[in-house]
Amino acid sequence: MSNWQHNIRQVCNGTRTVDNQTKYRMMNVGIACIHLIFAFSFFSHGVMPMVWYNIGVIVFYLLHTFVFLPKEKYMFVFYSSIVEIVSYSAISSILFGWDWGFTMYTLAMIPASFYLTYALPGLKERISIPIITSIVTGASFILVRVACGRIEPNYQNFDTGNLQICLYYFNIIIAFVMLVLFSSLFALEINYMQRQLEMENRMLGEAANYDPLTRLLNRRCMNERLKEVLDQAEQQGQQFCIMLVDIDDFKKVNDTYGHDCGDEVLIAIANAIATDVREEDSVCRWGGEEILILIKAELDVARKVAERIRKDVMNTVVKQKDARVRVTLTIGVADYKKKQTIRAMIEEADRNMYYGKANGKNQVVTSHERLED
Ligand code: GH3
Ligand code: MG
Ligand code: MG
Repeated sequence: MSNWQHNIRQVCNGTRTVDNQTKYRMMNVGIACIHLIFAFSFFSHGVMPMVWYNIGVIVFYLLHTFVFLPKEKYMFVFYSSIVEIVSYSAISSILFGWDWGFTMYTLAMIPASFYLTYALPGLKERISIPIITSIVTGASFILVRVACGRIEPNYQNFDTGNLQICLYYFNIIIAFVMLVLFSSLFALEINYMQRQLEMENRMLGEAANYDPLTRLLNRRCMNERLKEVLDQAEQQGQQFCIMLVDIDDFKKVNDTYGHDCGDEVLIAIANAIATDVREEDSVCRWGGEEILILIKAELDVARKVAERIRKDVMNTVVKQKDARVRVTLTIGVADYKKKQTIRAMIEEADRNMYYGKANGKNQVVTSHERLED
């Protein structure tokens, strides 16, 4: 697929917007082409003043495209184009008569002005510009209609052949195409903005719930989940456990291989743990190198899960330039007991974990094991 086809597809999907340069160039080149057709039509019927008028207008739009648009003079290009279109419609209608349909273009300026100005960066009071433009074009439409009723057209007696009817339909068709085109482009612009907004909302939601390094849940989100699970345990008797996981001698990893390697180890451990638990369980980065896990199960199941995590992490290797880094975990497990608070459960898991640290590290400790000793 060529580049421009790909871009058009993206604009239609709402994943891309048309930038201001393209928008304004499109408009200028389009209008210049319409005037080129006018120039040829009038030339073929010997209406030379209109040929020169149209050539002048084409030069005006080329100047926009190659001089003012590269300098991003969008508002100048916008206003001068409106003045040109309104005056061309008025002058040609008065010279040839209302029946030629030259004023149709002024109507197409309404959606065009909304589309062209609304997304311009740094433009305050955006809505007032297209509204004023609409009022001006509407007023000029009515005034030209009144003027055409009172003034005899200059060119009414020349032999037009079928030029009048051809230009009449041409003007109507082009005005109709412009109405549909600018309205659709405006709808696509809104579609794009909506998508951007949804994406930003999603990113904000992620930033509010996840730890940026490990992509595990953050402490705030885990606290909410713990509250929910405590309510369920108190009301429906649903059992749950928490595990406090601490990396053994992690400071040594940082000191020996550097902080970046320490970060990589943390990420590898987080990934290993996340794949070892079920979807209904929650894993959170509780602090520096401590991870808190919520397991919705009885103590013996939680103990087995903790053992699996410990073994998996022990077998996880983080490759460095000239080293293969391995770490071990000490895990303290605590199960929910009636009327116990979350805080008390975490303290119990912490005591179990520190007991494991004091007794050789790289192990899983529950309160049974600590109290048996
Ligand atoms: P122990 O076995 O007793 O837990 O020893 P330890 O070295 O793991 O414990 P200590 O509390 O002395 O050190 C924890 C280290 O974890 C110190 C800190 O620099 C490191 N750490 C905490 N958060 C991060 C992090 O986000 N990235 C890296 N690379 N290191 C971290
Ligand atoms: Mg620690
Ligand atoms: Mg540690």
